Amino acid sequence: DSHSEKTQSPPPNLIGWGLLWSLLLEHKLRLGFSILALAGATTCTLSMPIFSGRFFEVLIGASPEPLWRLLSKIGVLYALEPIFTVVFVVNMNTVWEKVMSTMRAQIFARVLIQKAEFFDRYKVGELSGLLTSDLGSLKGVVSENISRDRGFRALSEARHSILSETVYKRSTVPVFKAHGMAQASMSDCVTETFSAIRTVRSFGGEKRQMSMFGSQVLAYQKSGIKLGTFKSLNESLTRVAIYISLLTLYCLGGSKVKAGELSVGIVASFIGYTFTLTFAVQGLVNTFGDLRGTFAAVERINSVLSGTEIDESLAYGLEREIQQKVHDENLKLFLFDGLNGKNQYTNMHYMSALKSASNVCSVAWSADVCLEDVHFAYPLRPDVEVLNGLNLMLKHGTVTALVGQSGAGKSTIVQLMARFYEPTRGRITVGGEDVRTFDKSEWARVVSIVNQDPVLFSVSVGENIAYGLPDEKVSKDDIIKAAKAANAHEFIISLPQGYDTLVGERGGLLSGGQRQRVAIARALLKNAPILILDEATSALDAVSERLVQDALNHLMKGRTTLVIAHRLSTVQNAHQIALCSDGRIAELGTHFELLARKGQYASLVGTQRLAFE
Ligand code: ADP
Repeated sequence: DSHSEKTQSPPPNLIGWGLLWSLLLEHKLRLGFSILALAGATTCTLSMPIFSGRFFEVLIGASPEPLWRLLSKIGVLYALEPIFTVVFVVNMNTVWEKVMSTMRAQIFARVLIQKAEFFDRYKVGELSGLLTSDLGSLKGVVSENISRDRGFRALSEARHSILSETVYKRSTVPVFKAHGMAQASMSDCVTETFSAIRTVRSFGGEKRQMSMFGSQVLAYQKSGIKLGTFKSLNESLTRVAIYISLLTLYCLGGSKVKAGELSVGIVASFIGYTFTLTFAVQGLVNTFGDLRGTFAAVERINSVLSGTEIDESLAYGLEREIQQKVHDENLKLFLFDGLNGKNQYTNMHYMSALKSASNVCSVAWSADVCLEDVHFAYPLRPDVEVLNGLNLMLKHGTVTALVGQSGAGKSTIVQLMARFYEPTRGRITVGGEDVRTFDKSEWARVVSIVNQDPVLFSVSVGENIAYGLPDEKVSKDDIIKAAKAANAHEFIISLPQGYDTLVGERGGLLSGGQRQRVAIARALLKNAPILILDEATSALDAVSERLVQDALNHLMKGRTTLVIAHRLSTVQNAHQIALCSDGRIAELGTHFELLARKGQYASLVGTQRLAFE
């Protein structure tokens, strides 16, 4: 069995420290440059007291050096120190922001390609904790909260520096705001993606989510770099102001002492005061204030992600897709190492086991789907066999209604067909081929799932309908055509911005019936040969009900359909009814055949569990 091969070589763990390290090494030049600048700045700072010592030596006549030559040396020192510091902080911050962006993207991608049980194990709350608080704490070197920033508190002590304050207010505050907003949309994207992970998967929407996250990470990076630059310029400007006053003191004081108009002691105490200010503003040490938090975050992300299994079939398809998009700025971040052909996520054994999937979609239009001796236990409850030896054939182009008591395993069958999980034994075939031989991003084009409570994304109605399809393949006309067939066009054009109307978080701005019709339009446009419906149990109002039902009938036409049925009319119209019980199909036939059997189905109908209308 070729599938056992995929367990032979687990992908190397390059998500925590290893990733951080290799990302830092990507920026050797800039880092080297920064370190030189830091050395320069430190040398300047350390020489300052020596030069001020020499200044007093000159004043009391203990040194033969001319006063003006010494003062010009001090001037050079004061000019160089802020330049070195700015070069150091700006470069360091830029490197750090870039490294963190790639870290964020890589971690996001790594979570995205986890096997389904990862999402069973970590609930969305925990995940967004991991990905937003922890990921959020992968902060920039200098970009952090104003109030917690010692440099800025010191700055307000040095309020005499009017120039600097104005520059700060005018330039930095908006950048801070933009930075905060960029962070918020980054974490919204994380929450949305992982709370709708099943929908994302079933549409092969991973790349789209990555691209969206990527663009937000880049925006965050950009504002982080800008903020770091502003902060460091601002801080240096403050010091420049202090240096100018110091130098003025040196010049005035020096010449007055030389002329015998002032005592050395008075000059020394004035210079002392000004120095105190310099130290108050010295925020350099604080630049790295947040690194400990970052390291803790890397540690935690490492501990969560290093032990988990990724879905190689999904990763492989995604890797290939991303590679074809090397020019997409938003996806570049995902190309580092993991997805750039070094096979971080996948291995050759697995890839060579995959059949060319390009024709699976066309095959599936005329091939039967078979569940053959399917056994399944959820990975987190391996001792409970939910399905044990289930057999079911879905003839192409027909409707199969799946019925059974709640807990019988109906949704589990759907999840297996969507390949969200894989059977523990047995197989699912299309036209006789095991579905595992097709990679998952292809599979997403073969199966459509329409849930009773469909998840929409917080983009426009039009984009929701086109979700999962490559942009270049979808025209506005196609979207409208699908919406019309799904009885959604009418309500969509009555929305404030028509097809461009944003539907809000999880589609919350639309009614239940409207959401369902958008989801049906989405499935129509995707035009997958296999359709899985989870019929709504909650009743809509009569008009929406009819519109939705109508749209569903349209959608089912010609497709191999499996419907988890709750309505008597659905079962009666189905080509076959499969009654699921104890992890198998206990009864199979048409409505009247099964009624005549007077078995479980008959009693299910008898107890009205199936009759909502
Ligand atoms: P149905 O759709 O027929 O109501 P399900 O397929 O949802 O039934 O559930 C079948 C069995 O699998 C139930 O006992 C349920 O508790 C269990 N189950 C469902 N989902 C999971 C999961 N993610 N992890 C562990 N057990 C699950």
